[in-house]
Amino acid sequence: MTKTKTTIWQANSKYNENRINPSNNEQNFFELTEAAEVLREGGLVAFPTETVYGLGADARNSEAVAGIFKAKGRPSDNPLIVHIADINQLDELVLPYSQLAKSVMDRFWPGPLTIVLPVQPNKLSSLVTATLPTVGIRIPDHPVALALLRLSQCPVAAPSANRSGRPSPTLAKHVLDDLDGSIAGIIDGGPTGVGLESTVIELEGERTIRILRPGGITEEQLIEAFPEAIILNDRESDDGIEQPRSPGMKYTHYAPKGDLEVVQGTADDVISFIRAQVVLVAKENKKTGVLAFSERIGKYEADMVIDLGSEKQLDEAAQRLYAALRQFDEAGVQCIWAEACSKEGIGGALMNRIVKAAGQRITLV
Ligand code: AMP
Ligand code: MG
Repeated sequence: MTKTKTTIWQANSKYNENRINPSNNEQNFFELTEAAEVLREGGLVAFPTETVYGLGADARNSEAVAGIFKAKGRPSDNPLIVHIADINQLDELVLPYSQLAKSVMDRFWPGPLTIVLPVQPNKLSSLVTATLPTVGIRIPDHPVALALLRLSQCPVAAPSANRSGRPSPTLAKHVLDDLDGSIAGIIDGGPTGVGLESTVIELEGERTIRILRPGGITEEQLIEAFPEAIILNDRESDDGIEQPRSPGMKYTHYAPKGDLEVVQGTADDVISFIRAQVVLVAKENKKTGVLAFSERIGKYEADMVIDLGSEKQLDEAAQRLYAALRQFDEAGVQCIWAEACSKEGIGGALMNRIVKAAGQRITLV
């Protein structure tokens, strides 16, 4: 791939579009205007959102969208999520939708929830939808992302800004580690919020919400907001036979370079198992790593032990997960054991990502 120079724009995550004069807002506005111009001209721009960093391109421009697939090394049958700044942009992109869809948008947008809707023909590049009759759309809840989307005045296709198969980026540095020289620029807005990707849902009729991918909006939040609705979870294919409705779910995502195994059981059993495994593998002169919660972190000795925070604060663990997986990679750790956690709340998405990173390897002890 031809190397281009990747521009780094700075933008404060507390950026306030409505207050251009004071403090450094003016400089942020200048930088964001430049980034938006690059987007409009067909360039690839990585930007912070409240989930992870996204790699954006004008969703109407096939050449620009093809650039995303190329830069990421992403399979072309995995559709991209389209980001908009305002619900008024929606009608041009999708066919008429249900009242349930409208209520879900009203409740959760802007926010980490992607809704799959029937696409309006010929409005978006067919590469975005991977030729599906539907498109996944969301309004992100991040001032920098929203400002960029408004200034660019185009729907922006944006998957996570990592090379495919690598953990999603939660810092600008992660984006540069993966994509420096192959994208036009990146807006550095500091660490992202949730740290995991958006929840992807599809609506069936006026009553059913199907979760295609767990993420930033939890199942509990959906149930609470729509107590009358039937909430289903798409079954994931482990063996590749069953075709998941969300094409991306069939790929091994978020994998660290070392072998990762998730260990589930009572605290004492998990500790003994992991400790024994570390000793065994260290004898083979392999570099070992443990990913654990603060409650038990002192129990482990390995080449690298990373604390995800308290298991009572899983939102913090979600923020830390991808950076931790990248740290193991950088240190060349070859075998990693991760403690399992509760699937309640954001724990559902967290376990989904950890288990995926482990290629479904869970050991029950
Ligand atoms: P990423 O862009 O890496 O966050 O991944 C986007 C996820 O949304 C993938 O799992 C896609 O398969 C899923 N997705 C995007 N568009 C659609 C769609 N039209 N129908 C079903 N799933 C979709
Ligand atoms: Mg991704």
